[in-house]
Amino acid sequence: MSLSKLHPAFKSRMLEELGTVDYQLFEESLEQESVRSIRLNREKLLSSPFASKSIPWSKEGFWLEKRPQFTLDPLFHAGGYYVQEASSMFIQHILESLSIPKGLYLDLAAAPGGKSTLLSSYLGNEGVLVANEVIQSRTQILKENLIKWGLGNTIVTNNDPVHFESLEGLFDLVLIDAPCSGEGMFRKDPTARKEWSPDHVKLCSSRQQRILDQAGALVKGGGYLLYSTCTFNKEENEEMIRFLTSEFAYEPVRISLDSSWNIKESIFPTDEGDFYGYRFYPHLVQGEGFFVSVLKRPEDAYSNEPKKPKDFKHPFLKEIAERESNQLAEELSFENKTFYQLNDSFFCFPEMWKTHFDYISQNLNIRYFGTEIGKKQGKNWIPSHDWAVSILTKPSYPHLELIKEQALNFFRKKDLELEYKSEGWILLTYQQLPLGWIKNLGNRINNYYPKDWRIRNL
Ligand code: SAM
Repeated sequence: MSLSKLHPAFKSRMLEELGTVDYQLFEESLEQESVRSIRLNREKLLSSPFASKSIPWSKEGFWLEKRPQFTLDPLFHAGGYYVQEASSMFIQHILESLSIPKGLYLDLAAAPGGKSTLLSSYLGNEGVLVANEVIQSRTQILKENLIKWGLGNTIVTNNDPVHFESLEGLFDLVLIDAPCSGEGMFRKDPTARKEWSPDHVKLCSSRQQRILDQAGALVKGGGYLLYSTCTFNKEENEEMIRFLTSEFAYEPVRISLDSSWNIKESIFPTDEGDFYGYRFYPHLVQGEGFFVSVLKRPEDAYSNEPKKPKDFKHPFLKEIAERESNQLAEELSFENKTFYQLNDSFFCFPEMWKTHFDYISQNLNIRYFGTEIGKKQGKNWIPSHDWAVSILTKPSYPHLELIKEQALNFFRKKDLELEYKSEGWILLTYQQLPLGWIKNLGNRINNYYPKDWRIRNL
């Protein structure tokens, strides 16, 4: 798609903001191709599978020397890494440099899941992430990306921010990666350029204000709020922090920076004192345009802990009784998991967060949670794809290592010609990473790769 011209109002504002020399470089950078980058899933991959260079603000992040065709890489489908532009990975530096305590996190505008996978990795087995997306159709890709990531520590919800009222003061961290006018995406996303206008900026900032009006109350005393956009203008950035601090008690948080990173800090006054914002410009950083600000809720602000309900009540979900649950855990060699049933599917979830999950499931529209481990159909147990690609143990199944072309044929759902003696379920792997299940019936092999995820035309 050819790029439309930059809007004159955008040009003159940026020129004023950056000065003539920098503006020239900025405009030139919009015509250049962006450098591809990936963030590793360290639970699955130890090093970058491509020729690459480390991104200094994310120890899992790498700039790639070439642009690979990710669809043709089995490690991509196995959740070995996430393709994410480098500026967004700064969230990892924020979490780690401040040693933000793990716990219950919320990503309020989460699809397609780039930052959710980052938060899920940071939390590991010491926390749980609620990944929320308001647009129903977008929850599908969010769910798929989190299943592939495979850590089993997330709950995917589909709610408008106003539905979170009963969860005020519950979260240790809330990330609002707000829908915005996308000025930082002008080289990657031609529609962002086309749609931009001063009125669009106004529309976005009033939407952001509505989101923040709800989100500001969700962080518990001592917790953190991260507000980010992929746009440069002050109306959608600094002005939103001013609004937030006028409505809720928050303290400013400054982030340590290395000057060689070329990230621009803005210190801006509010009625509550000076706050900090961080901007990434594409002519200064190998990444897209990005803004982020970090705020801390005072220790004495309202905090809410869910109470353990007497009985778990939900219209569709059933909690598995203790005896059956212990039996399942033993059979599967799972530790510290609690089990639920939805129709004939079984799910497991970190036991430590059971009370929180029970409470959240009463209040939000849950689309996915933990890991779906399989289905019981009559006497048969059908292990799920989600379990295959998760980091949970799969002790009792034989593994079969594939070469690249075989792995791609599995993802294409083509008939597989594999030599394997034992019948039954077999876990396929590529470079030791689980890809999914096949069932060897002796005279044929059934491919259990999810239909909807099949790779087409390649
Ligand atoms: N955090 C995501 C990531 O890293 O992959 C990107 C999020 S994108 C910038 C913003 C998201 O906000 C979109 O998925 C969009 O559907 C959602 N959104 C749109 N309107 C919203 C609203 N009124 N409240 C909350 N989220 C909204």
